[in-house]
Amino acid sequence: MSNPIIVIVSGPGGAGKGTIVESLVAKDPMLWLSRSWTTRQQRDGESDHAYHFVTRQQFQDRIAEGGFLEWTEFLGNFYGSPLPSVDVGQDIVLEIELHGAQQVKEQHPEAILVFVQPPSREEQQRRLQGRGDSAEHVVERLRKAEEEERLGAERADAVVVNDDLDRAVGEIQAIIGAARSQRR
Ligand code: ADP
Ligand code: 5GP
Repeated sequence: MSNPIIVIVSGPGGAGKGTIVESLVAKDPMLWLSRSWTTRQQRDGESDHAYHFVTRQQFQDRIAEGGFLEWTEFLGNFYGSPLPSVDVGQDIVLEIELHGAQQVKEQHPEAILVFVQPPSREEQQRRLQGRGDSAEHVVERLRKAEEEERLGAERADAVVVNDDLDRAVGEIQAIIGAARSQRR
């Protein structure tokens, strides 16, 4: 069996990355979504399965054990992808920010980096507020988005604007389909 395809989905907070990757894995049983570790507090209404929520000590212990494919500090919290354990035949989806994406690309240059952009800053703000982010989180994520979008445009293999969800998901499915047909 050939190596799994690694798809990295990055983009500013509120762009819709989580929504998109959930839809991708629901539609494609051959995709495996990595569950990240984070020291951030769980948001009100956020699923228990969104992350493995841990303390800073637990996170640091895992770093010391060499247990992360990549990790970073983002807006004051640690986030990391545990080393993947994937079933044979599945491809990997990582929903991570750009510093982590760069670490993955250094180890796996063939990984595909998809940068998801919100249709506008106003719509991004509406989405962040709509899902219940605190006012402080909204401001931080909107401010951070400027730098992320500049770097994303430079580094991404594809940029997908998430205005219509089904279209955005379809574009990423097409990217994965093309990579699979090249592998065969
Ligand atoms: P991210 O993971 O990029 O921070 P989320 O997936 O949590 O973003 O999405 C932020 C909010 O925007 C959620 O409430 C989600 O339901 C909503 N959302 C996602 N995609 C769309 C879209 N295409 N149109 C309208 N709302 C969307
Ligand atoms: P949030 O707090 O909004 O859930 O996530 C903040 C940022 O961290 C987002 O850009 C998200 O993609 C990123 N992120 C989530 N998990 C990981 C991870 O395991 N590693 C890295 N590098 N970034 C992550």
